[in-house]
Amino acid sequence: MKSTSNQQKSCLIIGGGISGLIAGTMLQRHGIKVTILDKGRGIGGRLATRRIPYKSNGQGIFDYGAQFFTVSEPKFQQWVDQWLEQGLVREWSKQLSNTETTCYCGIESNRSLAQHLAKDLNVHLQTRATKITWDASYWTVETEKGNSFHGDILIMTSPIPQSLALLENSDITLPPQIKSSLEQVTYYPCLTVLALLDQLSLIPEPGGLRLKDPSLAWIACNHKKGISPQGFAVTLHSTPEFSETHWNTEDSIVVEKLLEIASSWLGSNVVEYQLHRWLYSHPKTVYGELYLDLQQPGLLMMAGDAFSAIPALDLSLNVEKATLSALATANYLLKQVELN
Ligand SMILES: Cc1cc2nc3c(=O)[nH]c(=O)nc-3n(C[C@H](O)[C@H](O)[C@H](O)COP(=O)(O)OP(=O)(O)OC[C@H]3O[C@@H](n4cnc5c(N)ncnc54)[C@H](O)[C@@H]3O)c2cc1C
Repeated sequence: MKSTSNQQKSCLIIGGGISGLIAGTMLQRHGIKVTILDKGRGIGGRLATRRIPYKSNGQGIFDYGAQFFTVSEPKFQQWVDQWLEQGLVREWSKQLSNTETTCYCGIESNRSLAQHLAKDLNVHLQTRATKITWDASYWTVETEKGNSFHGDILIMTSPIPQSLALLENSDITLPPQIKSSLEQVTYYPCLTVLALLDQLSLIPEPGGLRLKDPSLAWIACNHKKGISPQGFAVTLHSTPEFSETHWNTEDSIVVEKLLEIASSWLGSNVVEYQLHRWLYSHPKTVYGELYLDLQQPGLLMMAGDAFSAIPALDLSLNVEKATLSALATANYLLKQVELN
């Protein structure tokens, strides 16, 4: 298992969201053997898309995590330009973000961008990491299903509270100052309703609307967005305040309240709905650096959207933050590998 400096290095990545996928892509391009583990059924983490079947052969397709993303840094623009060229993303609108910059979305769906990034990577889905151990020269990740994976390097890209829980379960001790800084990072929750309508919604073109309501933050028509041709699929995101207040409220009550607020934009009957509870939707506070080397005997890193100098001023900058963290992590690791 041990790899000496002239053997190919290997890296395990916990999390197949945008940060895990970008870090994995960069490391693999530089000759590192990458394995990505994700507990989800689908790839992409919070770049999430779900289908709800409708009638005999119809379906509603919902982007129910990130809705679109914006770009502020050339490093991220380079990736987005490639995705535009490859026909993976498109400009959705300029009016949807607070800053009136171009908003991009996946052409097929937002998850389809993650699927594209994952296609040349070794990804294990429905694989929840439950314990990590450093075995003198390599990391072992044990999973819920009783499998284990090994690697010279380990990157954790799950939301920080989840990574901290995993470290604690693994009896890995962190320097007290680092632990305390990580514990201070918090995230907004979000309650998301996926509502399938029997007719086209009244949400105006281009199909997304930021609201000033104290309970409902966002409503989007996935049909007008172009990702749900066969179904009138509407996504509703509650505000952080509503999500906190109603975190433990029964599904049907939450849905009823949010649909009632949205009724003038829906204009038709809801034939089917689902509720998704995002405990860690996007960071409220951040770690302050683009990545964290946990200073363990083997290279153990943390990355993701909460690793940033400042919290995103606009929600739509979070996909970029996650990507920039992943790129910085990969660059740091490549230098470390070169040095050894
Ligand atoms: C409702 C909502 C709306 C949003 N809107 C926008 C928006 O419009 N624009 C924007 O830019 N951003 C938005 N965001 C934020 C954006 O989606 C995230 O910032 C970004 O996708 C985070 O990527 P990531 O790779 O850091 O984390 P994630 O995508 O969360 O990836 C982490 C992965 O780790 C996996 N994982 C966790 N624990 C384990 C474990 N023990 N074992 C294995 N796998 C594990 C998870 O399954 C997950 O796939 C939104 C998020 C939500 C939820």
